[in-house]
Amino acid sequence: MTARFTGELELFDEWSIGVRRAGRAVELGSIDALAEFVRTDDRGRYRPLSGARTMPGGWFYGARDGEDREAAIEAVYPLATVHSRQFKQGTLRVASLDEVLSRQSGRYENTSKLTAAGRDRARRLVCGECVRTPVWDQERVREPDTVSPGLIPCPEPCSVLVAFCREAALWEPEPPAASEPDSAVPWAAFEEPGNELRERYLMEGPLPHD
Ligand code: SF4
Repeated sequence: MTARFTGELELFDEWSIGVRRAGRAVELGSIDALAEFVRTDDRGRYRPLSGARTMPGGWFYGARDGEDREAAIEAVYPLATVHSRQFKQGTLRVASLDEVLSRQSGRYENTSKLTAAGRDRARRLVCGECVRTPVWDQERVREPDTVSPGLIPCPEPCSVLVAFCREAALWEPEPPAASEPDSAVPWAAFEEPGNELRERYLMEGPLPHD
């Protein structure tokens, strides 16, 4: 039988979900235990983005029925089943990156200054690390029937992408030199030299002018 996935989760047996890994099969006995387990990656680092491809492996949750399995998927990927359903029905409300950045204020107000090329690079790098599919991306917007089963539609840029855009806007006038990526730097500490996404962004070099 073909394996079925939602993001990094495998759906197996009748209602179970999990992430297989040879040598480890931790049974999580409750939704709370499951939510707690996926808060950190295999190395114990906090996962600030629920969709990040850093899910710990070697565990399963034996759901009782379809409703319990849906609750388990929601504990791992909040709103995933709701957004999938709304997307299929054509009722999902979508907001573009331009729209979201233009309504930022206070500490994040400067994000609106990020150029189109910077926005595109930020989206490509940050969303490329996420299992959700950004249906808000106007040029790449997908119709409901072209999204594969198991894909999770993302209706609008999340706070993690906005936080990255804030840093990218600060780098733009005088980009700092890229440093060596350091896996000890937290995943979303974009302001810290060594942060993997920061360094990948800076290593790509100067942005083309708009
Ligand atoms: S904006 Fe990008 S990184 Fe954030 S949840 Fe959506 S797809 Fe994932």
